Amino acid sequence: MRVPYLNLRQNYHGIEDALVRSFTRVLQSGRVILGPEVQTFEKQYATFSKTKYCVGVANGLDALILSLSALGIGKNDEVIVPSNTYIATLVAVSRVGATPILVEPKINTYNIDPKNIAAAITKKTKVIIPVHLFGQACQMDEIMRIANKHHLFIVEDNAQSHGATFNKKMTGSFGDVNATSFYPGKNLGAIGDAGAITTGNQRLANIIRSIRNYGESKRYVNEYIGFNSRLDELQAAILRVRLSHLATYTKQKQRIAKKYTAELAGVGDIILPITETGSTHVYHVYLIRTNKRNALQKYLESKSITTLIHYPIPPHLQAAYKELHFKKGSFPIAEELAATSLSLPIFPDMTNNQVEYVVKMIKQFFQN
Ligand SMILES: *Cc1c(COP(=O)(O)O)cnc(C)c1O
Repeated sequence: MRVPYLNLRQNYHGIEDALVRSFTRVLQSGRVILGPEVQTFEKQYATFSKTKYCVGVANGLDALILSLSALGIGKNDEVIVPSNTYIATLVAVSRVGATPILVEPKINTYNIDPKNIAAAITKKTKVIIPVHLFGQACQMDEIMRIANKHHLFIVEDNAQSHGATFNKKMTGSFGDVNATSFYPGKNLGAIGDAGAITTGNQRLANIIRSIRNYGESKRYVNEYIGFNSRLDELQAAILRVRLSHLATYTKQKQRIAKKYTAELAGVGDIILPITETGSTHVYHVYLIRTNKRNALQKYLESKSITTLIHYPIPPHLQAAYKELHFKKGSFPIAEELAATSLSLPIFPDMTNNQVEYVVKMIKQFFQN
């Protein structure tokens, strides 16, 4: 049996006809960028996120960059990000000219530890970016309390957690402006690059609507030095179909995660993912930890099971960030996670047989 990490082909299984109808509709409309499909998707995604406004953009990195830009973040500003996030979170901060300040996550949930945020706040701090990493919502009550106390903005990075909640409130609806990605492999994925920003603030929504399209207020009238970060009609039309099935995909992933968790408890030295009180988890990634990570990954590969590592090199040890002068040992939790994490295959159409095969091979590895 072969078990891929994620099978995008299977992602479209059962909705091909609807996708082709969307494609045909866009072709026949003759409107391919920022048209009615984008407007409808924005309304639907705002409704889904329980926010007032949604602005579609070209990708998740741009969503973060435009969010920070709209808030006026730039040179001499500090932005707090988790030390174990995907590099995009830091890149966005750097791209607006601000400095990313790394804060360690909790070792058991992999989400930013609110206790460490307060200690990282300086006079220059302007924004906290909570990343709902791997699909689990951050502890937003504590994070909002800190932000309010210190008058900081919140920009949620919701690229991995479409539909997750904290205390029944949607991720992407807490912050001043919130960024998400619809990269094909995300829980809500397009068939190319796409992203969006959600906000409850009309002024910020208007700024973002303008700067995604060269800072135009109306055609050929430019109010800001903007970006080209437009969402195209085809991706929006595809996303409308995928969004209508997202709840089903999420339930399927949660069912697979539950099975992994039940079957892998007590196997070897494996540490299983846990979900904190108040948070829900939509399992963009099902991540286990073990001291035998590299050997386990190799063994599973030899059994035709593909796994991934999220992420093998923490941002502070990347060559791209050598200017921040961090070294090995600067962020021990992020380093520990990078050394021991392994992400198991998980996708909505994964069969019971596939899940059982992965479990069986992991057990076999630890018996040998
Ligand atoms: C994927 C991702 C992004 C960036 O999204 P792109 O659409 O690839 O630009 C940002 N943050 C996190 C946490 C991500 O996982």
